[in-house]
Amino acid sequence: MKQNLNDAQMQAVLHREGPMLVLAGPGSGKTTVITRRIENLIKNKIASPSEILVITFTKAAAGEMKERFLRLMPQEGRRVTFGTFHAVFFMILKYAYHFEASSILREEEKVQLMREMITSMHLDYDDETEFIQGILSEISMVKNGRIALEHYYPVNCGKDVFYRIYKEYQQFLKRHRKIDFDDMLVYTYELFAERKDILLAWQKKYRYILIDEFQDVNQIQYEIVRMLTERERNLFVVGDDDQSIYRFRGAKPEIMLHMPKAYPDLKIINLPYNYRCPKDVVAMADKIISHNRERFQKEIWAAKEQNTGITFEIFPTGREANEKVIERIRQGEIPYEQTAILFRTNVQARMLMEQLLAYNIPFKMRDRVPNIYEHWIAKDIFAYIRLAQGSRQRRDFLMIMNRPKRYLSRESLDTEMVRFDAWQAFYSEQPWVGERIEKLRADLYAISKMRPFAAVNYIRKAVGYDEFIREYAKFRKIEEDGLYDILEELQESTKGYVSYEEWFLHIEQYKEELERLQKQQQITKEAVTLATFHSAKGLEFEAVHIIDVNEGCTPYKKAVLPPEMEEERRMFYVALTRTKNELHLYASEKINNHETEISRFIIEARERQSSSN
Ligand code: ATP
Ligand code: MG
Repeated sequence: MKQNLNDAQMQAVLHREGPMLVLAGPGSGKTTVITRRIENLIKNKIASPSEILVITFTKAAAGEMKERFLRLMPQEGRRVTFGTFHAVFFMILKYAYHFEASSILREEEKVQLMREMITSMHLDYDDETEFIQGILSEISMVKNGRIALEHYYPVNCGKDVFYRIYKEYQQFLKRHRKIDFDDMLVYTYELFAERKDILLAWQKKYRYILIDEFQDVNQIQYEIVRMLTERERNLFVVGDDDQSIYRFRGAKPEIMLHMPKAYPDLKIINLPYNYRCPKDVVAMADKIISHNRERFQKEIWAAKEQNTGITFEIFPTGREANEKVIERIRQGEIPYEQTAILFRTNVQARMLMEQLLAYNIPFKMRDRVPNIYEHWIAKDIFAYIRLAQGSRQRRDFLMIMNRPKRYLSRESLDTEMVRFDAWQAFYSEQPWVGERIEKLRADLYAISKMRPFAAVNYIRKAVGYDEFIREYAKFRKIEEDGLYDILEELQESTKGYVSYEEWFLHIEQYKEELERLQKQQQITKEAVTLATFHSAKGLEFEAVHIIDVNEGCTPYKKAVLPPEMEEERRMFYVALTRTKNELHLYASEKINNHETEISRFIIEARERQSSSN
């Protein structure tokens, strides 16, 4: 089913030599134009398949594009290279340095290595997992930003410690001939800068380079692409600044918008028709995005004549909203694989997944959704409960003894079992510490008599865990919101369970169900897609359900400054424009027991005149 292209699309598809930028809105055929242009290049013998390189930002997107293209050209298609930046650059490094797939330091190996390193250094930290993640993301930042180590000021530990860790980490990689993901970019950049002969070989090999979602490019990726296309100058990029939602990760949409300066002979094409979305969806999305000030104004008209009749409903709670989603999915005609449920953050997926499991609706997750019950915060709460239930395990106690701060030292805890009496004797010199232990003992007793919901609440408010989180976030200079989200979700998940045993059993079963589902996902295609706004980008579905269209969720509560709010608006814009047919929006009066307002984006959509005029 090959569509008839419109004039603007045709112009892009038939483009031959020189740089081109297709700057156009959602559903306008940008990705389509890429595949059709490749076909044209091959059919008209302008390029041979092996001279064409197509880059996208995620592995999934690369796979989907390849599939889409193979339907057009099953034979020659196989010789076209489709990949992510990382995959393509790794291939280049492989030739230069004889790396193998086993040379890549996998994520688990990275964590394990870091664990061994910090253990041997005898460092001081609260939570090992958190510390390791923090350090690893800082290392990544240094590499991607091409920051000189001496100009970098770490937040997770002192400067000296960070240098030691960084240096040791790099030495390990070198010694074992390993590279991590960030090194792929850095090394390719350095390789091309130093070895003009190698660069020339790749310039000759890939005479035509096409890149999708170019608004997501970061500095180092762009520099490499520039080098690669210096000779042939056949760079063809498509993107939409209104869909740039990775700024927090270093994506720079201004690179795309400033291309006319970098490439004076650049041709720019706008594709003015949205072929994907019903008319009312195009109008709504357009109205909302026009509230952003920092944007490149583009024309976009709906190619479809019909309206879908967008629904927006408010429910007392999120659980009831999810029930409605499920009811619609079960009663409607649209197959599971053409249905998506979208949300702003992963945390929102927990309740939804539990409900889908209960109804036996198969689903697949675009993102690796972390099991919140495995988060360190959940583990702390479980430790409190186990102690309240009589556990005297040293590891349970170690987890919570200074959460909140009680100024208890590890050294004083020298046996495997915790004996409160011995402890109190140990601290008898310091009565105020003794008092804290007594208070903890009383708290644990109180918790032992409670139901799960009350217990979590008690740990947070009366024991002081919320306060601990606040200080923890402040000290680490991280957002406390995300941590509170975990606590709220955890507390929410206790609802309906009258004993700890019941709740723990449910958590066990949930874990097993998830594992079963993940295995099953590899075999079944007929499943509803669950995705964050981020990972829904580029996709389309017959029916799209967006949950928690509330202030605090979308826009997310941490967005305060105008640039952050504009990014939230772009995310919502991406979400809305995924639908080919139905669009259902759901809000709640309460989210995790807090009263909430409906999203400002809904109010913007209802305004009679957009405020940008
Ligand atoms: P996004 O910005 O969301 O990535 P896009 O610009 O890449 O969107 P595509 O995914 O290429 O848009 O196209 C959107 C839908 O419109 C697809 O289903 C595609 O098949 C269809 N389409 C594109 N061009 C035409 C056309 N000329 N006639 C009919 N349908 C078209
Ligand atoms: Mg696309």
